[in-house]
Amino acid sequence: MQEFDVVIIGAGAAGLMAAATAGYRGRSVAVLDMGKKPGRKILISGGGRCNFTNEYASPDNYLCQNPHFVKSCLSRYTQHDFIELVDRHGLAYHHKTLGQLFCDNSAQDIVDILLTECEWAGVQVMLRSEVLAVSKTDAGYQINTSAGSYQCQSLVVASGGLTMPKLGASPIGYKIAEQFGLKVLPTCAALVPFTLHDHDKQRFDGLSGVSVDCLVSSEDGTQFRENILFTHRGLSGPAILQISSFWQAGQAITINLLPELNLAEHIHTLREQQGQKSLKNTLSVLLPKRLIEIMIAQNDIPDKALNQLTHGEIDSLANYIHQWQIKPNGTEGYRTAEVTLGGVDTDELSSKTFEAKKAPGLFFIGEVIDVTGWLGGYNFQFAWSSGVACGGAA
Ligand code: FAD
Repeated sequence: MQEFDVVIIGAGAAGLMAAATAGYRGRSVAVLDMGKKPGRKILISGGGRCNFTNEYASPDNYLCQNPHFVKSCLSRYTQHDFIELVDRHGLAYHHKTLGQLFCDNSAQDIVDILLTECEWAGVQVMLRSEVLAVSKTDAGYQINTSAGSYQCQSLVVASGGLTMPKLGASPIGYKIAEQFGLKVLPTCAALVPFTLHDHDKQRFDGLSGVSVDCLVSSEDGTQFRENILFTHRGLSGPAILQISSFWQAGQAITINLLPELNLAEHIHTLREQQGQKSLKNTLSVLLPKRLIEIMIAQNDIPDKALNQLTHGEIDSLANYIHQWQIKPNGTEGYRTAEVTLGGVDTDELSSKTFEAKKAPGLFFIGEVIDVTGWLGGYNFQFAWSSGVACGGAA
């Protein structure tokens, strides 16, 4: 049996950050992970370039049953603190859009920074060590893994959510929470593409790969202005991934395909100037041609010259394009989702240290808890902030 002051389950973003922070405080720290490599989700994130934080991260960018919970950790370790860390390591990075920061070279650079920090802090990272069971002892906690047993004073659960099972996602964190009497809120896949019903899939056949800048709204009024992408299964792209976190099964989403334009006014103006121009040619300057054909067919409007369109036809088409409603069949689920909504109820945890109120010495950080960021580097920022808060106390 090996003994450490702190044992951390999960060598992901949150676990490695907490480990380095606790190690610098002079605590002996072991990080256990069942994978062959640390930080496997970091490596595939942001298309391999890891969108490691967001310049504008604030509590408003997070979903949590208690919206105040994230305030403390985000204000004590901000995006600027993480940027300062990567600057110190000489990371080359760039700003993409909407405050998103990405590595210039590879996500491996972020993992290397975290491993260097862990090494400097004297942390031991044990790979190929699957945590099988945890129990309370007089001195703290005992952890049994596929590669041996550990004893510690403080146990940090940073085992992540359920997305991407092939990258080692497991429900161990939720099981440990329940074992110690902590409430776990229902989980579901978020930041995930939508699948469509067969009739919609047939209608949009041929659009796969087409991307359009849109304003997408959910039934609760949340809106995101980014691209949507037609796929062979349904709809994806940043605006769709964002809205999926606010969507409930059976609900419709509304897509404004031309958010910059008042389409009815635009057609009326062109009607005066170029009345002979066909509707299809007019619209295909604004939107992909195949999409226009589908939209026109859907409205039973023949493709005719602009000066032959009735006011009713113009209004109906404009309305349709500005408020295109579609009811997804479902989502692609945990297989392709970026994050898991729900998890360990934040009411069970201290917002300052992430220690369980009912189980002294037991901490939960990162995605395993009921905090889900928007798309755009917010999830990693929460992993860094919660990791530092916990590592300062564990
Ligand atoms: P994880 O990174 O999931 O780490 C948990 C670790 O625990 C894993 O290494 C796992 O192997 C280990 N583990 C689980 N169970 C056990 C067990 N029983 N025994 C031992 N070890 C165990 N967020 C962003 O902010 N920016 C992005 O660009 C971004 N891109 C993403 C792209 C994809 C494809 C995906 C899936 C997610 C992306 N995310 C992104 C989300 C981000 O990756 C997660 O929010 C973040 O990794 C959560 O960190 P974590 O440390 O809590 O959990």
